Amino acid sequence: MTNEELWRAVLGQIELSISKANFITWFKNTSILNNQDGCVVIGVPNGFAKEWLENKYNLYILRALKSFDTTIHTIRCVISQEKISHPAIQTVDGVKNIDAIQAPEQSGFTRKKILEKPSFGAQISHNTTFHETNLHSRYTFENFIVAENNELARAACYAVSQNLGLVYNPLFIYGGVGLGKTHLLQSIGNEVMKNFPEKRIKYINSERFTTELVDSIKNQKIDKFKEYYQQMDLLIIDDVQFLSGREKTQNEFFHIFNALYQLDKQIVISSDRPPKAIPTLEDRLRSRFEGGMIVDISRPNLETRIAILESKILEKGVVLDKASLHFIAEHITQNIRELEGALNRVLAFSEFHKVPASLENTKKILSQLIENNKKNIKSDDVFSVICSFYDLQKEDLIKKGRKKEIVHPRQVMMYLLRTELEMPFSTIGDLLGGRDHTTVLHAFEKIEKNKNIHSRLKEELSSLLERLYYSSVDTTV
Ligand code: ADP
Ligand code: MG
Repeated sequence: MTNEELWRAVLGQIELSISKANFITWFKNTSILNNQDGCVVIGVPNGFAKEWLENKYNLYILRALKSFDTTIHTIRCVISQEKISHPAIQTVDGVKNIDAIQAPEQSGFTRKKILEKPSFGAQISHNTTFHETNLHSRYTFENFIVAENNELARAACYAVSQNLGLVYNPLFIYGGVGLGKTHLLQSIGNEVMKNFPEKRIKYINSERFTTELVDSIKNQKIDKFKEYYQQMDLLIIDDVQFLSGREKTQNEFFHIFNALYQLDKQIVISSDRPPKAIPTLEDRLRSRFEGGMIVDISRPNLETRIAILESKILEKGVVLDKASLHFIAEHITQNIRELEGALNRVLAFSEFHKVPASLENTKKILSQLIENNKKNIKSDDVFSVICSFYDLQKEDLIKKGRKKEIVHPRQVMMYLLRTELEMPFSTIGDLLGGRDHTTVLHAFEKIEKNKNIHSRLKEELSSLLERLYYSSVDTTV
Protein backbone atom coordinates (compact mmCIF):
# COMPACT_ATOMS: atom_id res chain seq x y z
CA MET A 1 0.00 0.00 0.00
CA THR A 2 1.49 3.36 -0.95
CA ASN A 3 1.24 6.28 1.44
CA GLU A 4 -1.37 7.78 -0.78
CA GLU A 5 -3.49 4.65 -0.80
CA LEU A 6 -3.14 4.27 2.94
CA TRP A 7 -4.21 7.84 3.59
CA ARG A 8 -7.13 7.55 1.24
CA ALA A 9 -8.30 4.47 3.12
CA VAL A 10 -7.82 6.17 6.46
CA LEU A 11 -9.79 9.23 5.33
CA GLY A 12 -12.53 6.93 4.14
CA GLN A 13 -12.85 5.56 7.66
CA ILE A 14 -12.60 8.86 9.47
CA GLU A 15 -15.20 10.36 7.21
CA LEU A 16 -17.71 7.88 8.59
CA SER A 17 -17.07 8.74 12.19
CA ILE A 18 -17.12 12.55 12.27
CA SER A 19 -19.42 15.19 10.84
CA LYS A 20 -19.06 16.17 7.23
CA ALA A 21 -18.29 19.75 8.15
CA ASN A 22 -15.53 18.75 10.53
CA PHE A 23 -14.16 16.27 8.08
CA ILE A 24 -13.84 18.78 5.29
CA THR A 25 -12.58 21.52 7.54
CA TRP A 26 -9.78 19.57 9.11
CA PHE A 27 -8.79 16.91 6.62
CA LYS A 28 -8.74 18.99 3.47
CA ASN A 29 -5.28 19.08 1.89
CA THR A 30 -3.73 16.56 4.22
CA SER A 31 -1.47 13.70 3.15
CA ILE A 32 1.01 11.18 4.49
CA LEU A 33 4.50 12.51 3.98
CA ASN A 34 6.38 9.69 5.62
CA ASN A 35 5.67 6.31 7.18
CA GLN A 36 8.62 4.74 8.92
CA ASP A 37 9.29 2.71 12.04
CA GLY A 38 5.72 2.96 13.21
CA CYS A 39 5.66 6.74 12.97
CA VAL A 40 3.45 8.39 10.39
CA VAL A 41 4.11 11.98 9.42
CA ILE A 42 1.02 13.79 8.17
CA GLY A 43 1.30 16.91 6.08
CA VAL A 44 -1.29 19.56 6.92
CA PRO A 45 -1.91 22.91 5.24
CA ASN A 46 -1.55 25.21 8.24
CA GLY A 47 -0.76 25.45 11.93
CA PHE A 48 -4.37 25.59 12.72
CA ALA A 49 -5.18 22.23 11.17
CA LYS A 50 -2.06 20.83 12.81
CA GLU A 51 -3.30 21.82 16.23
CA TRP A 52 -6.72 20.30 15.68
CA LEU A 53 -5.52 17.08 14.15
CA GLU A 54 -2.95 16.55 16.87
CA ASN A 55 -5.19 17.40 19.76
CA LYS A 56 -8.65 16.45 18.72
CA TYR A 57 -8.36 13.84 16.04
CA ASN A 58 -5.19 12.14 17.10
CA LEU A 59 -7.03 9.06 18.32
CA TYR A 60 -9.33 8.77 15.34
CA ILE A 61 -6.40 8.93 12.98
CA LEU A 62 -4.29 6.51 14.93
CA ARG A 63 -7.11 4.02 15.24
CA ALA A 64 -7.79 4.14 11.52
CA LEU A 65 -4.11 3.81 10.66
CA LYS A 66 -3.70 0.86 13.00
CA SER A 67 -6.58 -0.94 11.33
CA PHE A 68 -4.48 -1.08 8.17
CA ASP A 69 -1.06 -1.39 9.71
CA THR A 70 -0.80 -2.60 13.28
CA THR A 71 2.83 -1.53 13.61
CA ILE A 72 1.92 2.15 13.52
CA HIS A 73 2.04 3.66 16.99
CA THR A 74 2.65 7.40 16.60
CA ILE A 75 1.52 10.22 14.38
CA ARG A 76 3.04 13.61 13.88
CA CYS A 77 1.72 16.55 11.87
CA VAL A 78 3.89 18.95 9.94
CA ILE A 79 2.86 21.92 7.87
CA SER A 80 3.21 21.18 4.19
CA GLN A 81 1.67 22.29 0.92
CA GLU A 82 1.27 18.79 -0.55
CA LYS A 83 -2.25 17.87 -1.35
CA ILE A 84 -4.16 14.69 -1.71
CA SER A 85 -7.45 14.16 -3.40
CA HIS A 86 -10.22 12.23 -1.84
CA PRO A 87 -13.70 11.73 -3.24
CA ALA A 88 -15.14 14.08 -0.61
CA ILE A 89 -12.36 16.61 -0.90
CA GLN A 90 -11.67 17.37 -4.52
CA THR A 91 -9.09 20.04 -5.03
CA VAL A 92 -8.71 22.12 -8.13
CA ASP A 93 -5.24 23.50 -8.37
CA GLY A 94 -4.08 26.72 -9.86
CA VAL A 95 -6.99 28.90 -8.84
CA LYS A 96 -6.00 31.29 -6.09
CA ASN A 97 -5.82 29.78 -2.66
CA ILE A 98 -9.22 28.33 -2.74
CA ASP A 99 -9.91 24.75 -3.44
CA ALA A 100 -13.07 23.40 -4.84
CA ILE A 101 -14.83 21.37 -2.29
CA GLN A 102 -18.23 19.92 -2.84
CA ALA A 103 -20.16 18.90 0.18
CA PRO A 104 -23.76 17.76 0.20
CA GLU A 105 -26.20 20.57 0.82
CA GLN A 106 -27.84 18.94 3.78
CA SER A 107 -24.62 18.80 5.73
CA GLY A 108 -25.13 22.44 6.64
CA PHE A 109 -21.80 23.12 5.10
CA THR A 110 -21.04 23.99 1.55
CA ARG A 111 -17.91 25.11 -0.10
CA LYS A 112 -17.44 25.53 -3.81
CA LYS A 113 -15.03 27.36 -5.97
CA ILE A 114 -16.51 30.35 -7.65
CA LEU A 115 -15.33 29.67 -11.13
CA GLU A 116 -16.56 32.55 -13.20
CA LYS A 117 -14.47 35.62 -12.68
CA PRO A 118 -16.45 38.82 -12.90
CA SER A 119 -14.68 41.65 -14.64
CA PHE A 120 -15.31 44.32 -12.07
CA GLY A 121 -12.49 46.87 -12.01
CA ALA A 122 -9.70 45.80 -9.72
CA GLN A 123 -7.74 49.02 -9.36
CA ILE A 124 -8.60 50.68 -6.09
CA SER A 125 -6.82 53.50 -4.41
CA HIS A 126 -4.97 52.72 -1.25
CA ASN A 127 -5.22 56.00 0.57
CA THR A 128 -5.60 55.41 4.23
CA THR A 129 -8.35 57.76 5.14
CA PHE A 130 -9.40 57.59 8.73
CA HIS A 131 -12.47 55.49 9.20
CA GLU A 132 -14.52 53.94 11.93
CA THR A 133 -14.14 50.22 12.30
CA ASN A 134 -17.28 49.96 14.48
CA LEU A 135 -15.51 47.44 16.67
CA HIS A 136 -16.27 47.11 20.37
CA SER A 137 -13.35 45.97 22.44
CA ARG A 138 -15.55 43.92 24.74
CA TYR A 139 -15.96 41.18 22.15
CA THR A 140 -12.88 39.01 22.01
CA PHE A 141 -11.98 35.40 21.42
CA GLU A 142 -10.60 35.32 24.94
CA ASN A 143 -13.95 35.95 26.57
CA PHE A 144 -15.91 33.73 24.20
CA ILE A 145 -16.76 30.41 25.81
CA VAL A 146 -16.16 27.56 23.43
CA ALA A 147 -18.47 24.57 23.54
CA GLU A 148 -19.82 22.01 21.14
CA ASN A 149 -22.57 24.31 19.91
CA ASN A 150 -20.11 26.88 18.64
CA GLU A 151 -16.68 25.32 18.40
CA LEU A 152 -16.64 24.97 14.65
CA ALA A 153 -17.84 28.53 14.16
CA ARG A 154 -15.30 29.79 16.63
CA ALA A 155 -12.54 27.78 14.99
CA ALA A 156 -13.42 29.07 11.54
CA CYS A 157 -13.55 32.66 12.80
CA TYR A 158 -10.22 32.28 14.52
CA ALA A 159 -8.62 30.73 11.45
CA VAL A 160 -9.87 33.62 9.35
CA SER A 161 -8.47 36.16 11.78
CA GLN A 162 -5.03 34.60 11.45
CA ASN A 163 -5.13 34.19 7.67
CA LEU A 164 -7.17 37.02 6.21
CA GLY A 165 -8.54 36.18 2.80
CA LEU A 166 -6.73 32.88 2.61
CA VAL A 167 -8.65 30.15 4.37
CA TYR A 168 -12.37 30.60 4.10
CA ASN A 169 -13.75 33.32 1.93
CA PRO A 170 -16.41 34.36 2.46
CA LEU A 171 -17.03 32.97 5.89
CA PHE A 172 -20.74 32.74 6.59
CA ILE A 173 -21.89 32.20 10.18
CA TYR A 174 -25.54 31.60 10.92
CA GLY A 175 -27.66 30.86 13.96
CA GLY A 176 -30.59 32.14 16.01
CA VAL A 177 -30.68 35.36 17.99
CA GLY A 178 -28.41 35.80 20.95
CA LEU A 179 -26.18 32.83 20.22
CA GLY A 180 -22.95 34.76 19.78
CA LYS A 181 -22.70 35.65 16.09
CA THR A 182 -21.95 39.30 16.65
CA HIS A 183 -19.54 38.40 19.40
CA LEU A 184 -17.58 36.13 17.06
CA LEU A 185 -17.63 38.52 14.14
CA GLN A 186 -16.42 41.36 16.30
CA SER A 187 -13.74 39.11 17.77
CA ILE A 188 -12.31 38.56 14.31
CA GLY A 189 -12.05 42.31 13.84
CA ASN A 190 -10.46 42.89 17.23
CA GLU A 191 -8.00 40.07 16.76
CA VAL A 192 -6.92 41.37 13.37
CA MET A 193 -6.60 44.88 14.74
CA LYS A 194 -4.35 43.58 17.50
CA ASN A 195 -2.09 41.49 15.28
CA PHE A 196 -2.21 43.39 12.01
CA PRO A 197 -2.89 47.02 12.85
CA GLU A 198 -2.18 48.10 9.29
CA LYS A 199 -5.19 46.18 7.98
CA ARG A 200 -8.33 48.08 7.15
CA ILE A 201 -11.30 46.65 8.95
CA LYS A 202 -14.97 47.46 8.75
CA TYR A 203 -17.75 45.95 10.79
CA ILE A 204 -21.26 46.97 9.81
CA ASN A 205 -24.69 45.48 10.05
CA SER A 206 -26.63 45.17 6.86
CA GLU A 207 -29.29 47.68 7.89
CA ARG A 208 -26.70 50.36 8.52
CA PHE A 209 -25.01 49.40 5.27
CA THR A 210 -28.29 49.83 3.42
CA THR A 211 -28.92 53.21 4.98
CA GLU A 212 -25.45 54.47 4.09
CA LEU A 213 -25.89 53.19 0.59
CA VAL A 214 -29.25 54.87 0.14
CA ASP A 215 -27.82 58.12 1.49
CA SER A 216 -24.88 57.92 -0.86
CA ILE A 217 -27.15 57.42 -3.84
CA LYS A 218 -29.26 60.37 -2.74
CA ASN A 219 -26.19 62.55 -2.40
CA GLN A 220 -24.58 61.27 -5.58
CA LYS A 221 -21.70 59.79 -3.67
CA ILE A 222 -22.15 56.20 -4.66
CA ASP A 223 -18.69 55.98 -6.24
CA LYS A 224 -17.10 57.20 -3.05
CA PHE A 225 -19.16 54.74 -1.08
CA LYS A 226 -18.01 51.84 -3.21
CA GLU A 227 -14.43 52.99 -3.22
CA TYR A 228 -14.47 53.22 0.55
CA TYR A 229 -15.74 49.69 1.03
CA GLN A 230 -13.50 48.25 -1.64
CA GLN A 231 -10.45 49.41 0.27
CA MET A 232 -11.13 47.12 3.16
CA ASP A 233 -8.94 44.14 3.97
CA LEU A 234 -11.66 42.74 6.18
CA LEU A 235 -15.32 43.50 5.65
CA ILE A 236 -17.73 42.13 8.22
CA ILE A 237 -21.45 42.33 7.45
CA ASP A 238 -23.67 41.35 10.35
CA ASP A 239 -27.28 40.16 10.03
CA VAL A 240 -27.26 39.95 6.28
CA GLN A 241 -30.84 38.64 6.24
CA PHE A 242 -31.94 42.27 6.32
CA LEU A 243 -30.49 42.76 2.85
CA SER A 244 -33.14 40.46 1.53
CA GLY A 245 -35.59 42.02 -0.83
CA ARG A 246 -33.58 45.17 -1.36
CA GLU A 247 -32.62 44.85 -4.97
CA LYS A 248 -30.49 47.92 -5.36
CA THR A 249 -28.60 47.31 -2.15
CA GLN A 250 -27.96 43.73 -3.08
CA ASN A 251 -26.68 44.80 -6.45
CA GLU A 252 -24.16 47.23 -5.00
CA PHE A 253 -23.17 44.80 -2.33
CA PHE A 254 -22.59 42.19 -5.00
CA HIS A 255 -20.13 44.46 -6.80
CA ILE A 256 -18.30 45.35 -3.62
CA PHE A 257 -18.21 41.70 -2.68
CA ASN A 258 -16.72 40.70 -6.02
CA ALA A 259 -14.14 43.43 -5.99
CA LEU A 260 -12.95 42.43 -2.53
CA TYR A 261 -13.08 38.75 -3.28
CA GLN A 262 -10.98 39.09 -6.40
CA LEU A 263 -8.30 40.81 -4.38
CA ASP A 264 -8.33 38.06 -1.76
CA LYS A 265 -9.79 40.42 0.79
CA GLN A 266 -11.66 38.76 3.59
CA ILE A 267 -15.44 38.91 3.82
CA VAL A 268 -17.30 37.64 6.86
CA ILE A 269 -21.08 37.49 6.97
CA SER A 270 -23.62 36.52 9.57
CA SER A 271 -27.27 35.74 9.30
CA ASP A 272 -30.02 34.23 11.38
CA ARG A 273 -30.43 31.46 8.79
CA PRO A 274 -28.44 29.81 6.01
CA PRO A 275 -28.26 31.54 2.62
CA LYS A 276 -30.69 29.18 0.99
CA ALA A 277 -33.32 30.03 3.59
CA ILE A 278 -33.18 33.78 2.96
CA PRO A 279 -36.19 33.98 0.68
CA THR A 280 -35.56 37.02 -1.43
CA LEU A 281 -31.82 36.88 -1.61
CA GLU A 282 -30.74 37.17 -5.21
CA ASP A 283 -29.45 33.91 -6.61
CA ARG A 284 -26.08 35.25 -7.62
CA LEU A 285 -25.52 36.64 -4.14
CA ARG A 286 -26.66 33.41 -2.57
CA SER A 287 -24.26 31.39 -4.66
CA ARG A 288 -21.46 33.78 -3.72
CA PHE A 289 -22.21 33.16 -0.06
CA GLU A 290 -22.38 29.45 -0.61
CA GLY A 291 -19.05 29.57 -2.39
CA GLY A 292 -17.22 29.98 0.88
CA MET A 293 -17.47 28.30 4.22
CA ILE A 294 -20.83 28.09 5.97
CA VAL A 295 -20.98 27.23 9.66
CA ASP A 296 -23.79 27.36 12.14
CA ILE A 297 -24.01 28.08 15.84
CA SER A 298 -26.62 26.13 17.70
CA ARG A 299 -28.15 26.47 21.15
CA PRO A 300 -25.91 25.90 24.17
CA ASN A 301 -26.46 22.91 26.44
CA LEU A 302 -26.76 23.15 30.22
CA GLU A 303 -23.08 22.68 30.88
CA THR A 304 -22.23 25.46 28.48
CA ARG A 305 -24.83 27.75 29.96
CA ILE A 306 -23.30 27.27 33.39
CA ALA A 307 -19.82 27.94 32.05
CA ILE A 308 -21.00 31.12 30.36
CA LEU A 309 -22.68 32.39 33.53
CA GLU A 310 -19.56 31.65 35.52
CA SER A 311 -17.40 33.57 33.11
CA LYS A 312 -19.79 36.55 33.07
CA ILE A 313 -19.72 36.67 36.86
CA LEU A 314 -15.97 36.62 36.86
CA GLU A 315 -15.91 39.34 34.23
CA LYS A 316 -18.21 41.55 36.29
CA GLY A 317 -16.31 40.86 39.48
CA VAL A 318 -19.43 39.93 41.43
CA VAL A 319 -20.46 36.88 43.43
CA LEU A 320 -23.45 34.67 42.99
CA ASP A 321 -24.21 31.50 44.89
CA LYS A 322 -23.99 28.22 43.02
CA ALA A 323 -27.64 27.29 43.53
CA SER A 324 -28.87 30.53 41.95
CA LEU A 325 -26.45 30.19 39.10
CA HIS A 326 -27.61 26.67 38.32
CA PHE A 327 -31.21 27.70 38.60
CA ILE A 328 -30.71 30.39 35.97
CA ALA A 329 -28.83 28.03 33.66
CA GLU A 330 -31.52 25.40 33.96
CA HIS A 331 -34.40 27.72 33.23
CA ILE A 332 -33.08 30.08 30.60
CA THR A 333 -32.35 27.79 27.74
CA GLN A 334 -32.95 29.58 24.48
CA ASN A 335 -30.04 31.89 24.05
CA ILE A 336 -27.11 33.57 25.67
CA ARG A 337 -28.46 37.06 25.49
CA GLU A 338 -31.43 36.01 27.63
CA LEU A 339 -29.10 34.17 29.91
CA GLU A 340 -27.06 37.30 30.48
CA GLY A 341 -30.26 39.30 30.84
CA ALA A 342 -31.51 36.98 33.56
CA LEU A 343 -28.20 37.15 35.38
CA ASN A 344 -28.26 40.94 35.21
CA ARG A 345 -31.79 41.00 36.61
CA VAL A 346 -30.79 38.87 39.56
CA LEU A 347 -27.72 40.99 40.23
CA ALA A 348 -29.66 44.23 39.85
CA PHE A 349 -32.29 43.03 42.28
CA SER A 350 -29.79 42.25 45.00
CA GLU A 351 -27.95 45.49 44.39
CA PHE A 352 -31.14 47.49 44.54
CA HIS A 353 -32.41 45.81 47.69
CA LYS A 354 -28.96 45.56 49.18
CA VAL A 355 -29.34 41.87 49.87
CA PRO A 356 -27.15 39.06 48.60
CA ALA A 357 -28.70 37.04 45.81
CA SER A 358 -30.33 33.86 47.04
CA LEU A 359 -31.99 30.92 45.40
CA GLU A 360 -35.32 32.10 46.73
CA ASN A 361 -35.00 35.56 45.19
CA THR A 362 -33.60 34.16 41.99
CA LYS A 363 -36.61 31.91 41.66
CA LYS A 364 -38.94 34.81 42.22
CA ILE A 365 -37.24 37.05 39.69
CA LEU A 366 -36.98 34.37 37.06
CA SER A 367 -40.54 33.23 37.45
CA GLN A 368 -41.61 36.76 36.58
CA LEU A 369 -39.21 36.79 33.69
CA ILE A 370 -40.37 33.43 32.38
CA GLU A 371 -43.97 34.44 32.89
CA ASN A 372 -43.41 37.63 30.93
CA ASN A 373 -41.58 35.85 28.18
CA LYS A 374 -44.66 33.73 27.82
CA LYS A 375 -46.92 36.73 28.08
CA ASN A 376 -45.08 38.25 25.16
CA ILE A 377 -44.79 41.98 25.38
CA LYS A 378 -46.67 43.73 22.59
CA SER A 379 -46.16 47.13 21.02
CA ASP A 380 -49.21 48.42 22.88
CA ASP A 381 -47.53 47.53 26.17
CA VAL A 382 -44.57 49.64 25.17
CA PHE A 383 -46.86 52.51 24.16
CA SER A 384 -48.64 52.46 27.48
CA VAL A 385 -45.46 52.30 29.52
CA ILE A 386 -43.92 55.19 27.58
CA CYS A 387 -47.09 57.28 27.82
CA SER A 388 -47.49 56.81 31.53
CA PHE A 389 -43.80 57.32 32.24
CA TYR A 390 -43.47 60.57 30.28
CA ASP A 391 -47.06 61.62 30.80
CA LEU A 392 -48.01 61.76 27.15
CA GLN A 393 -50.80 60.59 24.87
CA LYS A 394 -50.26 57.96 22.21
CA GLU A 395 -51.12 60.55 19.52
CA ASP A 396 -48.25 62.75 20.71
CA LEU A 397 -45.84 60.00 19.80
CA ILE A 398 -47.42 59.35 16.44
CA LYS A 399 -48.13 62.79 15.09
CA LYS A 400 -45.63 64.96 13.24
CA GLY A 401 -43.70 67.43 15.30
CA ARG A 402 -40.26 67.83 16.76
CA LYS A 403 -40.99 69.22 20.18
CA LYS A 404 -38.12 68.35 22.43
CA GLU A 405 -40.29 66.90 25.18
CA ILE A 406 -41.79 64.47 22.68
CA VAL A 407 -38.79 63.72 20.50
CA HIS A 408 -36.94 62.03 23.32
CA PRO A 409 -39.77 59.73 24.48
CA ARG A 410 -40.41 58.87 20.85
CA GLN A 411 -36.79 57.87 20.39
CA VAL A 412 -36.89 55.79 23.54
CA MET A 413 -40.07 54.17 22.25
CA MET A 414 -38.30 53.27 19.00
CA TYR A 415 -35.39 51.93 20.96
CA LEU A 416 -37.53 49.69 23.13
CA LEU A 417 -39.54 48.36 20.21
CA ARG A 418 -36.28 47.35 18.67
CA THR A 419 -34.53 45.87 21.69
CA GLU A 420 -37.49 44.21 23.36
CA LEU A 421 -39.63 43.21 20.41
CA GLU A 422 -36.88 42.91 17.80
CA MET A 423 -39.03 44.72 15.27
CA PRO A 424 -37.58 45.74 11.92
CA PHE A 425 -36.83 49.47 11.74
CA SER A 426 -39.36 49.94 8.96
CA THR A 427 -42.19 48.41 11.02
CA ILE A 428 -41.29 50.66 13.95
CA GLY A 429 -41.42 53.65 11.59
CA ASP A 430 -44.87 52.58 10.42
CA LEU A 431 -46.14 52.20 13.97
CA LEU A 432 -44.97 55.68 14.86
CA GLY A 433 -46.87 57.61 12.24
CA GLY A 434 -45.18 56.38 9.07
CA ARG A 435 -41.69 57.61 9.85
CA ASP A 436 -38.80 56.65 7.65
CA HIS A 437 -36.73 53.66 8.73
CA THR A 438 -33.57 55.78 8.73
CA THR A 439 -35.14 58.04 11.36
CA VAL A 440 -35.72 54.98 13.50
CA LEU A 441 -32.20 53.73 12.93
CA HIS A 442 -30.74 57.09 13.98
CA ALA A 443 -32.91 57.14 17.09
CA PHE A 444 -31.87 53.63 17.97
CA GLU A 445 -28.20 54.38 17.55
CA LYS A 446 -28.47 57.61 19.50
CA ILE A 447 -30.05 55.94 22.51
CA GLU A 448 -27.72 52.98 22.29
CA LYS A 449 -24.73 55.30 22.35
CA ASN A 450 -26.00 57.70 24.98
CA LYS A 451 -27.10 55.08 27.45
CA ASN A 452 -23.46 54.19 27.95
CA ILE A 453 -22.49 57.79 28.47
CA HIS A 454 -25.33 59.26 30.50
CA SER A 455 -26.22 57.37 33.63
CA ARG A 456 -29.57 59.14 33.82
CA LEU A 457 -30.65 57.68 30.53
CA LYS A 458 -29.48 54.28 31.66
CA GLU A 459 -31.61 54.55 34.78
CA GLU A 460 -34.52 55.80 32.73
CA LEU A 461 -34.31 52.74 30.52
CA SER A 462 -34.06 50.26 33.34
CA SER A 463 -36.98 51.90 35.03
CA LEU A 464 -38.99 51.56 31.83
CA LEU A 465 -38.02 47.92 31.49
CA GLU A 466 -39.02 47.37 35.08
CA ARG A 467 -42.47 48.76 34.32
CA LEU A 468 -42.70 46.83 31.09
CA TYR A 469 -41.88 43.50 32.64
CA TYR A 470 -42.81 43.72 36.28
CA SER A 471 -45.71 46.02 36.87
CA SER A 472 -49.22 45.25 35.94
CA VAL A 473 -49.68 48.29 33.77
CA ASP A 474 -52.97 49.28 32.35
CA THR A 475 -52.56 48.48 28.69
CA THR A 476 -55.38 50.60 27.41
CA VAL A 477 -54.02 53.85 26.07
P1 ADP B 1 -26.20 37.24 18.12
O1 ADP B 1 -25.39 38.22 17.34
O2 ADP B 1 -26.03 35.83 17.61
O3 ADP B 1 -27.63 37.61 18.23
P2 ADP B 1 -24.54 38.11 20.32
O4 ADP B 1 -23.19 37.89 19.72
O5 ADP B 1 -25.03 39.50 20.35
O6 ADP B 1 -25.62 37.17 19.60
O7 ADP B 1 -24.55 37.45 21.76
C1 ADP B 1 -25.46 37.83 22.78
C2 ADP B 1 -24.73 38.02 24.06
O8 ADP B 1 -24.23 36.78 24.53
C3 ADP B 1 -23.52 38.93 23.95
O9 ADP B 1 -23.42 39.73 25.08
C4 ADP B 1 -22.35 37.98 23.85
O10 ADP B 1 -21.18 38.56 24.38
C5 ADP B 1 -22.82 36.81 24.69
N1 ADP B 1 -22.30 35.53 24.21
C6 ADP B 1 -22.76 34.79 23.20
N2 ADP B 1 -22.07 33.66 23.06
C7 ADP B 1 -21.12 33.66 24.02
C8 ADP B 1 -20.08 32.76 24.40
N3 ADP B 1 -19.90 31.61 23.77
N4 ADP B 1 -19.27 33.12 25.43
C9 ADP B 1 -19.48 34.27 26.08
N5 ADP B 1 -20.43 35.17 25.78
C10 ADP B 1 -21.26 34.87 24.76
MG1 MG C 1 -26.00 39.95 16.38
